[in-house]
Amino acid sequence: MKFRSYWHDTSPAFTGAAAALGGEYDVAVIGAGFTGLGAARRLAMEGHSVVVLEAETVGFGASGRNGGHLNNGIAHSYLAAREHFGAEKARALYHAFDDGVATIERIVAEEGIDCSFRRSGKLKLASKPAHYEGLARNYEALRDADTDTALLTRADLAAEVGSDAFHGGMLQRKSAMMHMGRFVVGLAEAAVRRGAVIHEHAPVTAREKAGAGWRLITPKGSVTAGKVLLATGAYTTDAFPWFRRRIVPVGSFIIATAPLTPAQVAAVMPGNRTCVNTMNIGNYFRLSPDNRLIWGGRARFSARSDQQSDAKSGAILRDSLLRIFPQLRDVPIDYCWGGLVDMTADRFPRAGQADGLYFSMGYSGHGAQIATHMGEIMAGLMTGRDSRNPWEGLPWQAVPFHTGKPWFLPLVGLYYKTLDRIR
Ligand SMILES: Cc1cc2nc3c(=O)[nH]c(=O)nc-3n(C[C@H](O)[C@H](O)[C@H](O)COP(=O)(O)OP(=O)(O)OC[C@H]3O[C@@H](n4cnc5c(N)ncnc54)[C@H](O)[C@@H]3O)c2cc1C
Repeated sequence: MKFRSYWHDTSPAFTGAAAALGGEYDVAVIGAGFTGLGAARRLAMEGHSVVVLEAETVGFGASGRNGGHLNNGIAHSYLAAREHFGAEKARALYHAFDDGVATIERIVAEEGIDCSFRRSGKLKLASKPAHYEGLARNYEALRDADTDTALLTRADLAAEVGSDAFHGGMLQRKSAMMHMGRFVVGLAEAAVRRGAVIHEHAPVTAREKAGAGWRLITPKGSVTAGKVLLATGAYTTDAFPWFRRRIVPVGSFIIATAPLTPAQVAAVMPGNRTCVNTMNIGNYFRLSPDNRLIWGGRARFSARSDQQSDAKSGAILRDSLLRIFPQLRDVPIDYCWGGLVDMTADRFPRAGQADGLYFSMGYSGHGAQIATHMGEIMAGLMTGRDSRNPWEGLPWQAVPFHTGKPWFLPLVGLYYKTLDRIR
């Protein structure tokens, strides 16, 4: 078994990294994930000089480690969002994620990125009978924002998922999937083709004021820029304490089986969609382009992702996979990896300006579609071209007693485990 992201392992190497670091730019972007690269490509296309500084390699963070689901709509209950924000705002937030999927579809076409993008549809699967009733209520409310949905009974699911563990589900047809590694490398190559400069292995360790902008310092040298976009998500370091106090990094873990035979695919995933169940400590799964079952979940409440931590989580994930698909008992697990999710207290993203920087982060495990889109939106905000920002006006307080290392995660895990037992 490889302790490495399947997406990283099956992507071409990024070939466009620049060597000597220095110079003056209109914009510096910190972080080469979907957010940073989406912004860099758009800024370069519009004629601005832009440099991207990445601590590790392109797609090293969540963008190269996720479950591969490009789900439309909000991850929250739509009913709850409508109660909290009112109908108009809830609809706008829902559609922001739809726009995220559309932005990726457009960029894939514009740049000719070979990443198996497909509007597969997403199934939310009821793990308990009462959860199906909740899905049905949500489905009724959602007709206000998305008519491209369907409520599936337990019997309907036979054509979708080869398991009797679920009590029905809701289908959102606009959702998509793609090969995340090929997309993030393709996006970086496109940004460079458009004129952006990308430096890998260039962690920003400090910043100082330079005229109206900033000088960003890395071990390889420094750059100056009029504006800076912080696109570091869950991987934000102590160099940015204002953000560290607001983002809680939470480990999420994934395993991938060996490629399934056509008969196994027909037996377990005949619908070939992205799937997620309704438990608080739940699972998400899909097939890879080469027919592996990619199976993820929170597994353990940990802020660590390293081989030891990932291996423990991998064993828990394999047990949960076999509870749903016992017919895969003899299929080997080829990959096991983990990554950090950038959680906010209410699980909604935040974007705008703070502490002298532009920022977009806090996608809370539901960012593979909207991060690239937010990169484009941040490009518009930074250049004054466009003032649309779906998260404008959402307050963002520091998480009480949190300074960057979330000591309280085991308690949160216990709370959700208890909820899953009783509801
Ligand atoms: C295991 C897992 C599964 C997920 N599954 C899904 C899914 O199926 N669907 C979905 O919608 N979302 C999913 N997500 C979330 C999604 O992947 C993220 O929301 C999205 O990739 C965030 O992109 P980003 O560019 O903002 O951040 P990232 O991709 O995390 O990029 C941040 C980058 O900043 C760099 N960096 C940090 N500090 C510095 C510094 N000081 N100097 C320079 N560089 C720095 C890091 O090295 C990193 O490369 C998942 C996340 C994880 C971890």
